[in-house]
Amino acid sequence: MLFDTMVCHSVIRKLHLPSPLSDEAHSILRLPIRLGGCGIRSLHSVASAAYFGAVAIAAPFIIGTVARFVQGQPLSEDSTSPSSASVIEPALVALRSLPVSRHIADCVDTLILQGVSTDSKLLPASRLDFWTLYGTGSKRGIQKRLMQLIYAHSADNVMRQVHDPITRAKLISCSVKHSGSWLSVVPSSSDLFLLDSHFALAFRLRLGLPPQDGLPPFCRCGALITADPGHFLSCKLLKQTIVTTRHDLIVRLLASHARFAGGAVYVEPRHLEGKRADAQIFFSTDTSLLDASVIHPASPYYAISTTIASTHLGAARFRERQKHNKYDSQAKSEGASFFPFVLETYGGLGAEGSQFLDKLAKLYVENSPFSVNRTAFRTRVNRTVSIILQRGNALVQLAGCISTRDAAGRRVGYS
Ligand SMILES: [Zn+2]
Repeated sequence: MLFDTMVCHSVIRKLHLPSPLSDEAHSILRLPIRLGGCGIRSLHSVASAAYFGAVAIAAPFIIGTVARFVQGQPLSEDSTSPSSASVIEPALVALRSLPVSRHIADCVDTLILQGVSTDSKLLPASRLDFWTLYGTGSKRGIQKRLMQLIYAHSADNVMRQVHDPITRAKLISCSVKHSGSWLSVVPSSSDLFLLDSHFALAFRLRLGLPPQDGLPPFCRCGALITADPGHFLSCKLLKQTIVTTRHDLIVRLLASHARFAGGAVYVEPRHLEGKRADAQIFFSTDTSLLDASVIHPASPYYAISTTIASTHLGAARFRERQKHNKYDSQAKSEGASFFPFVLETYGGLGAEGSQFLDKLAKLYVENSPFSVNRTAFRTRVNRTVSIILQRGNALVQLAGCISTRDAAGRRVGYS
């Protein structure tokens, strides 16, 4: 417990988070990244599963050793469980009086409290059955399977306790595959690197905290920030300025990856009339139009919809349909395919954007003069997109904070 508390305090201090964290933020901090959390696991929550799993794997050897000891035989390296019932029974009786059996019984009680069902076939039907359940053969991956059940139970609990649609939409979007890639990227190059301040802002966004403490309650646009901590990501006053910068950062990154993969790229193709897509990309056998977009699923407009932000990538699908309505006829007249590249602010990538990256990875493999790994290319692109998105989000959030403080200052006559 003390170790967990120290880790939590370190995270709060390093990232300048409010202390103490709310129960909801604390739960999200502890959840695995794939379930929408931040991956700061609690040693306390892992301890019982780890002990139980370790003893379960060693059970045949423990029974063998105890059986030899009970029979008065010398211990040997081959201490696997004997098969004869006449030998096993006395060993099991002896085992039940040893401290390890008591510890296992305590672990079972804790695991049940943590949400592991007795129907999961991982726990013994009764405390005394542990040695018969795991004594016959080595079963691997028990700790991992127990933790999957525990974390799924924790994630369900967090979701069950959330009633406002904005937080619900955030939790759903954060649990989309790859949405937390930026949290586990090794900053080995400039395109995989986030400034500490930007990392802290991305962390706050994932926890559902406002970008800074002590912000005025109202945005310059009049929206109540305390009711919508991620408001700046959907603020109408930032759309034509810093939000456009975030968009351009993403387009520039995608164009650079497309060129690296061997495609010819025309950013903002001026020969296209009317509203044009962000880029025209010439592959070896065909041409694609690409339009990048970021959508904030937890904006009040999408969050209260029962059909948009209530499912994984629902907001991204909504924006993809809008983009198709806008650009399909243009793409058809150009003889090109059209890909809407839609990112949700929390990191989820729409299905069609994912297909576009697959297409880039295929081109990369076809064009390379030597053998290359398609998955490695795809993973790197995913990570750089994840980083550039959070960098752009941070810029938007910082601009929103400055604008809001400035407006509040003017209201009270400071400038
Ligand atoms: Zn606003």
